[in-house]
Amino acid sequence: MGKNCAIVGINWGDEGKGRMVDLLTENYDVVVRYQGGGNAGHTVINDKGKFALHLLPSGIFRDGVINILGNGVALDPENLWNEICGVTEKGVSITPENLKISDRASLLLPWHREMDELEEKRLADKKYGSTKQGIAPFYSDKYQKKTVLAGELFYPEKLKEHLNDLLLWKNLTLTGVYGADAITLESIDKWISDYCEKIKPFICDTGKVLKEVSQSGKNILFEAQLGSLRDLDYGIYPYTTSSNTIAAYAPIGSGFPAAKIDRILGVVKAYSTCVGEGPFVSEMFGDEAENLRSAGNEYGAKTGRPRRVGALDLVATSYGIEVQDATEIALTKLDVLSGFDKIPVCVAYLLDGKKTTRFPFPAALNDAKPVIHYVNGWMQDISGVRSWQDLPQAAKEYVTFIEEKIGCPIKYISVGPERDSIIIKD
Ligand code: GDP
Repeated sequence: MGKNCAIVGINWGDEGKGRMVDLLTENYDVVVRYQGGGNAGHTVINDKGKFALHLLPSGIFRDGVINILGNGVALDPENLWNEICGVTEKGVSITPENLKISDRASLLLPWHREMDELEEKRLADKKYGSTKQGIAPFYSDKYQKKTVLAGELFYPEKLKEHLNDLLLWKNLTLTGVYGADAITLESIDKWISDYCEKIKPFICDTGKVLKEVSQSGKNILFEAQLGSLRDLDYGIYPYTTSSNTIAAYAPIGSGFPAAKIDRILGVVKAYSTCVGEGPFVSEMFGDEAENLRSAGNEYGAKTGRPRRVGALDLVATSYGIEVQDATEIALTKLDVLSGFDKIPVCVAYLLDGKKTTRFPFPAALNDAKPVIHYVNGWMQDISGVRSWQDLPQAAKEYVTFIEEKIGCPIKYISVGPERDSIIIKD
């Protein structure tokens, strides 16, 4: 059997998972996305250019790597096809050999995006901060058994009838609850021919593929979207995403339930960022936040929204590591902290007048106040550093301080967005 690894986010997402997958795929034969949809983005910079991936696995740039979209993803044919076209335009080859879509993946239907938009509008100032890509309506419909599986595209007559039934049901909500226009079957036909037909050649029984490649000794990399704190069951509910981002879900969402994961690489950013609404205890405001945001270029890959920024939160990070059961850590974007005199780190929370390092229940988070410890900064530009020894002493102390607090080895430190801007720490 081959060796399997999951690359997961420890915090709120945008930790730099995509660049770690892009780096590590050298040692893996298959990369699988097991949850989420096109609602977040991975930015990958390599010898082929700069890419913002949303649904495509980040192994798509490596020759010989098989990329799989598992049954757990929100498969949006329109977004996926547009993404495939954008990436192939830049000279990357995408064929049914290197991209395979699970026939058991459920389709994100045209009305899911609209439902997302209508509900956020209804919620007004109580909105969740959705990226409006239809993810929450998609997953709720999936669990209500009110969407279709990708493999149904191979049964056109049955598919038509199934979609017609779903359309009649969904139009009740669209028109009756939200007062929106009904969706027509003609528009669905057009969606099928414009997008679904295009992705059909990639659809197959990916569970079979995974089992076979594993039995032949090949290594599988599971790629997560977002991070622990956005996990539907373990995150800051209801400000979570609508799927399970944790590594434990990888075997289920990938289509290989028997998979054993040997390595779980948790990705942590050297400071905190968070997109959308919800509690964010170590959040910074004003000039302090603006300086960090612009140093780290913290604007969403999908939405362009400014990300909320804050001090590295060791309470949330330790919890994130625990729920992922991470075996090692990649600490990203350390270069962004160069030039800050003192670096704030949130080492505990104050809750009901008591200090705690245990991440509280979501409803208590709004009352938690950060306990900040300042670590000495460094002035040198570290983006050209490639070995642990060459890092400034203060940068080493920052990393060691974090490592001691989280109790998990930091194996990689990234100091720039490019593939080779990485320090491997023994
Ligand atoms: P993901 O969704 O977890 O893959 O993260 P994103 O791609 O949304 O966000 C990470 C961003 O940081 C991307 O724009 C990367 O190019 C960039 N990035 C990743 N690692 C580093 C790093 O070490 N230094 C700098 N300056 N940028 C980085």
